[in-house]
Amino acid sequence: MTYQIAVLRGDGIGPEITDEATKVLDAVQSVQPGLKMALTPYDAGAEHYTRTGEALPAATFEAVKAADAILLGAMGLPEVRMPDGTEVQGRIIIRLRKGLGLYAGVRPIKLYPGVTPTVGSSGPVDFVIVRESTEGLFASFDGGMEIHDEVVGDTMLISRAGTERVSRFAFRTAQERAAKRSDGKALVTCVDKANIFRSLAFFRKVFTEVAEREYPTIERNYALIDALSLAIIQNPSAYDVLVMENMFGDILSDLAAALNGGLGMAPSGDIGDRHGLFQPSHGSAPTIAGKGVANPLATILSAKMMLEWLGSRHGDELATQGAELIERAVCEVTASGLVTPDLGGKARTEEIGDAVADAVRRLSRSGHAGSAS
Ligand code: ATP
Repeated sequence: MTYQIAVLRGDGIGPEITDEATKVLDAVQSVQPGLKMALTPYDAGAEHYTRTGEALPAATFEAVKAADAILLGAMGLPEVRMPDGTEVQGRIIIRLRKGLGLYAGVRPIKLYPGVTPTVGSSGPVDFVIVRESTEGLFASFDGGMEIHDEVVGDTMLISRAGTERVSRFAFRTAQERAAKRSDGKALVTCVDKANIFRSLAFFRKVFTEVAEREYPTIERNYALIDALSLAIIQNPSAYDVLVMENMFGDILSDLAAALNGGLGMAPSGDIGDRHGLFQPSHGSAPTIAGKGVANPLATILSAKMMLEWLGSRHGDELATQGAELIERAVCEVTASGLVTPDLGGKARTEEIGDAVADAVRRLSRSGHAGSAS
């Protein structure tokens, strides 16, 4: 089978970082001949909106819907605005999340060898934030209520079905991670504000019901978002998988990126039961676009997540091995000290992509036994 991968390169640094990720995917294909991917670019974004009046053309939406997976660079330019004054990227991503049922925002936070965290110590950091991505405080996106330019409101909506499916996703993620760890440890933390908000007390209740009914052997605990924001910086190794409401996940995942060296090292997946979209957690960083200094590793690691997801979804060992190869290659490159300016180095965007692709080829030749830590 050939996986159809829809590639949305986007705006700002989007095209340059996406090109490095596709370079690495091509290297993986070249060393895993049974693994076939057709990477096809499609139009979308602020620049496309300026030229055509459409941010996400219907043809692109249909193509991404038909694809096996979606790889996205970054979208949006501050000077390009919709008639209501907002930038285009929020609308595009929310259209994709809602239209494709991408309810789990997955943000792995891992400190790679040789990378200095922006905050915290250099101790082990390896946890995953699972953000509910279709409801919560974003439920009324593009709606909400406004009274005569005096009072404006957005609504926090938590549904039983939405909480059940994202809770299950978090427990499954913990199981998959445990299967790869020598100690087999799995812990899911429910992050909320259940002591104050009825909606979030309900989130905790439904999470607990799912846990007791379906995952009784997996350890779980609970944290309030405000206390957790400090605890996760002070003691990141205490966490494994954290599941939370949409807005909390949005904020916490950017904060947590400080533990792994910043946004340039923060990949993500937007995953549903049928579709998966993979993109760096950062935006299009227009101020550094075209200068060759953007860190492509968040996008390369998002491509790795894509292979991991394809591997697990299709029971495809080659895709899973491809993901492991990328992981090990990235570890090698960061450990060697070859990093872009955001991590204190001098390497250029293209050099990082070349180095990761070379490491993929080299590791493949040497058998790349064992998994990356
Ligand atoms: P958005 O709202 O679309 O998420 P933003 O304007 O909040 O975007 P980003 O585009 O994510 O912000 O950029 C935030 C900061 O991080 C900028 O200073 C940018 O230069 C830096 N940055 C983001 N991504 C990278 C990257 N891949 N490499 C280097 N620096 C980056």
